[in-house]
Amino acid sequence: MRCRVCRQRAVIELRRHNAAFCRDHFITHLRRQVERTIADFEMFGPEDRLLLGVSGGKDSLALWDILTDLGYRVDGVYLELGIDEYSAESRKLVEEFAHRRSLGLRVIDLAEEVGFSVPEAARSTRRSPCSVCGSSKRYLLNQAAAGYDVLVTGHNLDDESATLFSNVATWNTEYLGRQAPVLPAAAGFVKKVKPLVRVAERETAAYAVLRGIAYEVEECPMVAGNTLNRTKRWLNLLEEQSPGIKQQFLFGFLERAAVRFDDEEKPRLIACGECGQPTTGDICAFCRTRRRVRAGGEEWGR
Ligand code: SF4
Ligand code: ZN
Ligand code: ZN
Repeated sequence: MRCRVCRQRAVIELRRHNAAFCRDHFITHLRRQVERTIADFEMFGPEDRLLLGVSGGKDSLALWDILTDLGYRVDGVYLELGIDEYSAESRKLVEEFAHRRSLGLRVIDLAEEVGFSVPEAARSTRRSPCSVCGSSKRYLLNQAAAGYDVLVTGHNLDDESATLFSNVATWNTEYLGRQAPVLPAAAGFVKKVKPLVRVAERETAAYAVLRGIAYEVEECPMVAGNTLNRTKRWLNLLEEQSPGIKQQFLFGFLERAAVRFDDEEKPRLIACGECGQPTTGDICAFCRTRRRVRAGGEEWGR
């Protein structure tokens, strides 16, 4: 297997691009994919102040590396979810990454700053940990991004195609109307972008390894309840048979079908009675979780 560009020995084959690359040309290829995505979807410019949600996994750390290398001003925000060793280890990796490169990093410890960890909130509310985790991340990242121009996340092609598949399978037209690599700023919400939508999970893993980036390789211990992961596995089987199917599915939707869901009625947003962040009800989902955790704590005499 030879590199498409220089004919040296290739280190990775990308079947959906019908190409293989040596180390250096793969790194260049991946950076170009990200640059192209940023330009095509008008995500941000060199003057914008960016805040990146970093988890310690390969996607967000690879993206931090790529964006700083492209010359963007990017701070990171890490949410300490309180999931035992997994959180301790990923926090350490993020802190070391930021420290070595002198990058700005804010750590938000959920237990200290909002009064509950993800496992604790899941127990008190009897919701799945991933559901509590997902809604807490959305809320806290949006809040942390106040003062920044754009909130950046490391969602990749696998994440986005699996989310699209789930939303199509259930015909969740409201979510389909919001499935986009860019969500413009709206009352109380900062602009959100996903520059890795053209990049597959195995490619960010390869990039991180080739760049010597230490990332969290263990899966979160709560992952068993994550339905998106199941969908990803099915899509991987399809991709194995038909390389490129995930990209066709996602980009075909974005180019030809997404516009049909633009008119989906958007829920009317008002300020949450407790925290002031935008919500559809009187009290936002995050504040409701916080109330239920507190109530549970009192019941148990904590
Ligand atoms: Fe959060 Fe679930 Fe992902 Fe763990 S697997 S980090 S609980 S969303
Ligand atoms: Zn090469
Ligand atoms: Zn609230």
